[in-house]
Amino acid sequence: MANQNGEIFDLEGYAAVGMAGSSFVPLDTNNTIKMPYGSELMLLPDRKPVLYNISKKRLETLHENPFEPGKPLFPVAAFNSPGYVISYVSAYQENKSADYLPLFSYGAAGWSKDAFRSAAILVDSEKRQDLRLMKYEDVVSGVKKMRKKMPANRLRKHLEKCALEYGCPAGKNFFLSRFEAPLPTSQYCNARCLGCLSLQKNSHVPCSQDRIAFTPSPEEIAEIAITHINRVNNSIVSFGQGCEGDPLMVADVIEEAIKIIRSSTTKGTINVNTNGSKPDAVKRLINAGLDSIRISINSFQPKCYTAYFRPVDYSFSDVKKSMDIVLKKGKFISLNYLNCPGFTDTPEELEALTGFMEQYPVNMIQWRNLNFDPIRYVERMHSTSPHSMPAGVKTLLSRIKKRFPDLKYGYFNPPKEHFK
Ligand code: SF4
Repeated sequence: MANQNGEIFDLEGYAAVGMAGSSFVPLDTNNTIKMPYGSELMLLPDRKPVLYNISKKRLETLHENPFEPGKPLFPVAAFNSPGYVISYVSAYQENKSADYLPLFSYGAAGWSKDAFRSAAILVDSEKRQDLRLMKYEDVVSGVKKMRKKMPANRLRKHLEKCALEYGCPAGKNFFLSRFEAPLPTSQYCNARCLGCLSLQKNSHVPCSQDRIAFTPSPEEIAEIAITHINRVNNSIVSFGQGCEGDPLMVADVIEEAIKIIRSSTTKGTINVNTNGSKPDAVKRLINAGLDSIRISINSFQPKCYTAYFRPVDYSFSDVKKSMDIVLKKGKFISLNYLNCPGFTDTPEELEALTGFMEQYPVNMIQWRNLNFDPIRYVERMHSTSPHSMPAGVKTLLSRIKKRFPDLKYGYFNPPKEHFK
């Protein structure tokens, strides 16, 4: 936990606790891992920590700092580095004055012997966003090189801001010639996700980055993509980033861009991250040369899907139609599965996922952490449709794997060389 100066300390006689909806679990070295490099610790304002009193064998909410009576005490949460899915949320109770937490995931964390520990599970060991391999000075020299190579390209200029100001790992990887390069293109979206990173209208929550304010031309997109593909092995270029709306809203531009890229090279994987709302647009992009698609989803129960995505002009059935088209075309399809312990690991969500997978045998689930206030999210979802006690994220991962052994687990879009 932390004091009002943000100083983190542990408390003799108490164990850290993980939360999943209304279930609270004391953390130990069996249900936690050493905190992954690059993870960040956060203090949660206007909230009190829930801890486990080891001698009295009971949960306790601490209202003040035992070392400074009368002074507040704050829960601490971990924003784990990419590649890890959280199994528990930091355990806390809200004060009456509490407002929404900003758009991060709030994993449970503790301390043991000489290290912080996270309630998280490794789902992808690839070093794609390992900050130790992404030195700032290398990014800056990459930016200078691209400025010389494509001075007029507005998308190159936008990616500079992503890499240098927002610290976006995908943006940095373009300038570092590594793995996957982002191709943000769309200013528009036909969903209103509760946790949209690029647009929060009439909301208590600040968005994490500004949405792209122009539509790059097919030529500008292709220049970035071809440059990346020609200098990176097993490269991937991806439409649908955190700093834009949904790429299917500008399918005509993307279709043209894909044709230019494919007229220049057959190398590289062209991927689109999307809400999957427009089946016809998906078909056009596949016919143009798209290799893979990743569709974001929080629940396979249409009511809970709708409560989070708040679609404007489409429904969950359109998303399923898109998946059907991709599967029939034999293209690689991943789910960007937004996980929140206490909701995603409930029997109802597990059953809905299983039922869906039987009908739509997608290739991969990317287990992602939902970046949204966990208590407010679970409340919203449970008020939409009743859910029973969570089975645990670890149990969820092993049950789905057992039921669908060929299903890939990961965190990042794979290159086509790894599809099989
Ligand atoms: S689909 Fe993407 S861009 Fe659209 S509202 Fe949701 S998070 Fe935002």
